[in-house]
Amino acid sequence: MADVSELLRVGSGVDLGAIDPAGTPGLPDRKEVRRDPKGWARAELVTLGAELARQQEMLFANAKCNPADQRRVLLVLQAMDCGGKDGTVKKVAGTMNPEGLRITAFGPPTAEERQHDFLWRIRRALPLPGYLGIFNRSHYEDVLVVRVRELAPPRVWKPRYEKINNFERELTDSGFSLVKVMLHISYDEQRRRLLERLRDPTKYWKYNPDDVDNRAYWPAYQQAYQDAISRCGTDHAPWHVVPADRKWYRDWAVANLILDALKRLRLSYPPAGFDPQAETKRLEREETGRVSKVNGR
Ligand code: AMP
Ligand code: MG
Repeated sequence: MADVSELLRVGSGVDLGAIDPAGTPGLPDRKEVRRDPKGWARAELVTLGAELARQQEMLFANAKCNPADQRRVLLVLQAMDCGGKDGTVKKVAGTMNPEGLRITAFGPPTAEERQHDFLWRIRRALPLPGYLGIFNRSHYEDVLVVRVRELAPPRVWKPRYEKINNFERELTDSGFSLVKVMLHISYDEQRRRLLERLRDPTKYWKYNPDDVDNRAYWPAYQQAYQDAISRCGTDHAPWHVVPADRKWYRDWAVANLILDALKRLRLSYPPAGFDPQAETKRLEREETGRVSKVNGR
């Protein structure tokens, strides 16, 4: 099977317009997959999820047993409104032990956050060693919405690309594996999803009238994404564009990207810091000779 990470990796010169949001790169070209790609991908996600859970547990275990082990993984999820960030968190992160996850969604900066550099709130949300961090939106909003909706002048947002690159270099130098993902949906698919939210009262809470206004800025957003990916798609922290009109493909692809990052760490379960045989004997002996006195009496 083709390496999904490699197929979806993009860098400088990326042309978003040339990437089909309904595409399914890397999906195996086999009869049973062609017959029912959605059914296959949904079943495969269960298998991938079990392996993700195992890998994440090993990452956690290593950090717990060895304080010098600084390794951790950070998934950065970016997308247009309705791009599927929440669904991806639910479906893909949902396969792992919540205890090992650190999930943060970033909205408009609070009054306190606005008093600091744009990376301040990001640094505070970084996962500790052993954790899989997930950013639902991220520091990239500061060169996306901020640029497109002119929340700050160019002299403020332009230097941020380099600041982001330096920041991410700092992270990868200190044990982070970065998995940066843009969920790429089409203009039409966004409209369908917005309409779906309006048709279903249990989805009203997800609907934001601002999202409709944002649609007028679609080309400007695509340009801003393209520039961010071009300028911050580095060897140590590459960007991936995941076609996301099909939710089953999106989840399958993102699960593969995280799994790939975890496998690169070549994790194994940490060895015992004690003698398992001696410990077993101690427990066996305990069955016959229970200490009768309470300490100090
Ligand atoms: P949602 O992800 O649907 O909950 O929406 C979060 C909103 O927060 C989006 O409209 C983002 O554009 C906005 N947002 C996130 N980060 C920033 C930021 N740094 N500056 C301004 N708006 C932001
Ligand atoms: Mg929203």
